[in-house]
Amino acid sequence: MKIEQNVDLKKMSFMRIGGSARYLIEIENDDDFHKLIEIKEKENLPIYILGEGSNTIFSDGIHKKIIVKVQNNEIIKTYENSHGVNIKVGSSVSWDKLVEWTVKNGLSGLELLSAIPGLVGACPVQNIGAYGTEISETLTNLRAFDLVSNEFYEITNKDCQFSYRNSIFKENPNRFVILDVSFRLRKEKPKLPTYKDLALYFLTQKNKKPSLREIRKAVIYVRSEKLPDPSKEPNCGSFFKNPIISKHRADELVQKFPDMPNFIVNEFETKLSGGWLIEKSGFKDKKFGNIKVHNKNSLVLTSNGKANFKELLEVRDKIIQGVEKNFGITIEVEPDLVT
Ligand code: NAP
Repeated sequence: MKIEQNVDLKKMSFMRIGGSARYLIEIENDDDFHKLIEIKEKENLPIYILGEGSNTIFSDGIHKKIIVKVQNNEIIKTYENSHGVNIKVGSSVSWDKLVEWTVKNGLSGLELLSAIPGLVGACPVQNIGAYGTEISETLTNLRAFDLVSNEFYEITNKDCQFSYRNSIFKENPNRFVILDVSFRLRKEKPKLPTYKDLALYFLTQKNKKPSLREIRKAVIYVRSEKLPDPSKEPNCGSFFKNPIISKHRADELVQKFPDMPNFIVNEFETKLSGGWLIEKSGFKDKKFGNIKVHNKNSLVLTSNGKANFKELLEVRDKIIQGVEKNFGITIEVEPDLVT
């Protein structure tokens, strides 16, 4: 177990905003949880579970908290047959390194999720997804420590209660420390991607049967074209979520705005493009002090490295109010804002 005190949180968020925390504790094995509970009870401090900081923004000032990270970098094959392979992956493995490993090993299931920042342990929390697939389709089970019962649990896919960018872990923040995640991957050829950006990429290349490697390359290219590099322009990816609204309300809006992108979720609900709503509300490429709305993807806010939390909240409110005024829809923030 590694323990640090008075930790700079700015360095621990891709947005490069934040104050400091009393403790940072790195869990290296199961026994470390005994020591963690001892410190938590002695100091009477709440725990915040952190991954890589790609989806977390801390407020300024001192956080009277214990920040907990997990150190487990193993990728183990647990089962193999002619159809596929089961793997167990440590929580601190970089998500994209795992996707790269699966593609190199000819295993399909994760290739569309290439180039998503963050660590494996964080992927179940918001059921990460992109280009028509999500983690719930390949995740079989995971192992976690429950900070309420102080027990280790093996949690099945069903018990994760996955839905669109949501799970039991998101509904119960800072309760389950995820230690490893298991996946079932297939030894079969991938399907031709259907989302517009990728479909156009392969149409241009006249490639109707792309390989896993070609799909990964295409996703990395498409994402890099639309998303800023956090090491150059601090950002946490999409700052807002794509809203899901009632089909009835969406039909009314489409009558009024015929070019508005909309996608059926189910019989009653429709998903809209948050980026489109923000852009049409006049915020695309707009600068507000140290914060900017990205010029290619209006869902993304970037900082110049000097922004503070208060400024970020002011920009958040301005954009939410602008979209509300124009479309009557309240968009929500995606990253975890920790105060
Ligand atoms: P995009 O492809 O421009 O899509 C914008 C919105 O339209 C998303 O809500 C997307 O749904 C929806 N959409 C587009 N084509 C669709 C289709 N053929 N069928 C159903 N829905 C469709 O989005 P982007 O901002 O460039 O992001 C690329 C992908 O990365 C998207 O899938 C996005 O959701 C994903 N992403 C995920 C996260 C995350 O897991 N937290 C963060 C950032 C981006 P979906 O959202 O269902 O794909």
